[in-house]
Amino acid sequence: MEKAGNLAAVNGVKVSGPFAVNTPVLRERGTTLTVNEVFQHVMNYTHWEPNSALIRNYLEHSSEAVENLLEIGYQFKEANFRFKTPFVDEKGGFHLILTDVDKRVRLWTEAYEKYGCSLIRQPKKF
Ligand SMILES: Cc1cc2nc3c(=O)[nH]c(=O)nc-3n(C[C@H](O)[C@H](O)[C@H](O)COP(=O)(O)OP(=O)(O)OC[C@H]3O[C@@H](n4cnc5c(N)ncnc54)[C@H](O)[C@@H]3O)c2cc1C
Repeated sequence: MEKAGNLAAVNGVKVSGPFAVNTPVLRERGTTLTVNEVFQHVMNYTHWEPNSALIRNYLEHSSEAVENLLEIGYQFKEANFRFKTPFVDEKGGFHLILTDVDKRVRLWTEAYEKYGCSLIRQPKKF
């Protein structure tokens, strides 16, 4: 159920790309970033305030999001992100999406059809 009524309006379809660890994209690039390194950095940077189990779980499963997007046809390359982070070059984890936004919408539309999903516009009164 989607208020905007179409896939093109969804914010996540338009982003630059996800951060993830242990993905096929990173393995192909030969980067050496580990879940532990990212976990330690995130938790120290945030003074251990967030839910550590949740952060760890997110990092351990982050590759699945990239794998799912690869499966529906997204293309990525590992790139240094525009913000200052320690995760660059050999320790890179940012996945720049190379697929243009129009094509992303087409890929999502095809994936919806393939997996039997339909998008329902949320009635205005909600
Ligand atoms: C300009 C910009 C660039 C970004 N770049 C990146 C990036 O490169 N990498 C990254 O990881 N993150 C990026 N982000 C952050 C990322 O887009 C969000 O964290 C992510 O999209 C959040 O996903 P979500 O599903 O929670 O929300 P959204 O993607 O915002 O989806 C929420 C959806 O709910 C719908 N909705 C709202 N109210 C209702 C309602 N009452 N009923 C039904 N539907 C409703 C909205 O229309 C929307 O489509 C960026 C964000 C912005 C704004």
